[in-house]
Amino acid sequence: MQEIAFIDCPSPNHDARAPGGSIDLLIVHYTGMPTADGARLRLCDAAAKVSSHYLIDEAGQVYRLVAEDRRAWHAGAGGWRGQGDVNSRSIGIELVNPGHEHGYRPFPPPQMASFAALARGLLARHPIPAHGVLGHSDVAPTRKTDPGELFDWRGLAADGIGLWPDLAAKPAPGQALLAIGATGAAVRGLQSKLAEYGYEIAVDSLYGSATALVVTAFQRHFRPWRVDGQVDDETLSYLDKLLKIKA
Ligand SMILES: [Zn+2]
Repeated sequence: MQEIAFIDCPSPNHDARAPGGSIDLLIVHYTGMPTADGARLRLCDAAAKVSSHYLIDEAGQVYRLVAEDRRAWHAGAGGWRGQGDVNSRSIGIELVNPGHEHGYRPFPPPQMASFAALARGLLARHPIPAHGVLGHSDVAPTRKTDPGELFDWRGLAADGIGLWPDLAAKPAPGQALLAIGATGAAVRGLQSKLAEYGYEIAVDSLYGSATALVVTAFQRHFRPWRVDGQVDDETLSYLDKLLKIKA
């Protein structure tokens, strides 16, 4: 296993985890700021009231900001599998990247190698299942887009980190079957499946903007080559496969 040379950079932004819970989620973020230094200063600024357990810059340097037994303030409002307070049950990792607002770009190999080494240790230390390795956008689909469609979920899953739905026969991205404005049983079925996987979504048979944002978050993670917020055969196939393979 790759040894990680941490730099300690303690953040004051943390508190106690909710009692009685376990750490069963790993949440991946990008910093979404123009510079790495700016992001690190903000994550350690008491006035900003944000933090993460770890920060990884584009050269692969890992900064340790908050101890794993403490509740870092990275996820904000959101939920997964019907439970809120994601911060209490998760480890948060921030990856330096300017993000969609400031020039989104690929995560360089040294950064991804450090992420993989760090994640492997976390998965060994905490009861985080494969389907508990998630993006911020998965747990807050109406507010967040990070780490985004350039994050290599597929490569990581091949390395034993997270879940990826390999399909033997993969339909091409196709014509939209469901999109904004659709109603009825097919929409309800889709919403039920997304909720069953873990997404926070109202099962109300109405394909409104909230449903489109959840579908968009799903695609950023599991169908990143086409993120359009519309449901086609390929999107449905990936969702069905995930529901089959999640533990
Ligand atoms: Zn985030």
